[in-house]
Amino acid sequence: MTTEIWNTLLSIGGEGILIEVKGQDAEKQWKFRRVVTDLETGDRSFSNAETDALALIESYAWLSLYPMYIDEALVNQVKRKILTHSYRNDSAFSAWTEKCFPERDKNQVKLANWLLTSKSTIVLTGAGMSTESNLPDFRSKEGWWRSIDPITVAAPEALDNNYELFTDFYTARLEALEGTAPHEGHQVIADWEERGFVDAVATQNVDGLHTAAGSKNVYELHGSLKNIYCHNCGAKAAPSDFKAKRKCGVCGGKLRPGVILFGEMLPQEAWNTALSRIKSASLIIVIGTSLEVYPANQLPLLASGRTVYLNAEVSSSGQDFDLVLEGKAKTIITEVQRIMHEAEGLV
Ligand SMILES: [Zn+2]
Repeated sequence: MTTEIWNTLLSIGGEGILIEVKGQDAEKQWKFRRVVTDLETGDRSFSNAETDALALIESYAWLSLYPMYIDEALVNQVKRKILTHSYRNDSAFSAWTEKCFPERDKNQVKLANWLLTSKSTIVLTGAGMSTESNLPDFRSKEGWWRSIDPITVAAPEALDNNYELFTDFYTARLEALEGTAPHEGHQVIADWEERGFVDAVATQNVDGLHTAAGSKNVYELHGSLKNIYCHNCGAKAAPSDFKAKRKCGVCGGKLRPGVILFGEMLPQEAWNTALSRIKSASLIIVIGTSLEVYPANQLPLLASGRTVYLNAEVSSSGQDFDLVLEGKAKTIITEVQRIMHEAEGLV
């Protein structure tokens, strides 16, 4: 008769009971058993050996209880369970996070959990999403092109009165854009959409980097720089025509980029669709916008679901959000993706 040695792989404290999963690696085929100990009487009950460790304890609602020990052999399976479980009890989630992801930022783990358990998720991005693609910020105080007051080049009046300067300004912006590519953060968001974790991206950026990264449902709330058209008749034209200062091939009117100039209406269809989706989404993730400008700053108030704010600098603007992560967009997004990758069989 051989002595069976069962090692403890998972131990969980419940109300008056201790739940343990024990395992043995017999001929490279793991076998598991459940041991439940009544802490008052000391009585123990055993299950028969099974090959699925976590199925053994499913009936105990163990994710809402408190972990005491998790062995390496099971930790990645447990990670998948906790990341995909909808937690009502924040302290149980924190306890599992502490055990499973001791090295990870707890708020990033929480974002991964919210993302994986949300029914519908909308991502809203601003300038901070693009800065890591080394796209110069033409609107920053230092960045203003040739130190010119933005109103003189980014307003409809410039089309009539100052077209030379207008085309030079937007040519500089188009050329800056041609030298940039989406960064890893854009690609992760496109990947989340493909896997069904994200439903749509609404962006204040006009650079088209989300689309370039592969995102399909993109609402460009401030228009698109590369979308050149005739200001007079609306006919489409190529960026090269605009940069060469050519006239509209249809009516001879002035060409312009499809961005919203100061004082122009926001694109109604994109806004209305984005807003209704934001209102009904169960999760909104706002990335890289200072939230100083209407209507973006109203979003946390409009949303009925959970709200997350991710920005390099978090000022008082973050206080209305359910979860705030301070740091660079690319870094945080790719870290959250890594957390999801750690969970076995998840992504
Ligand atoms: Zn025209």
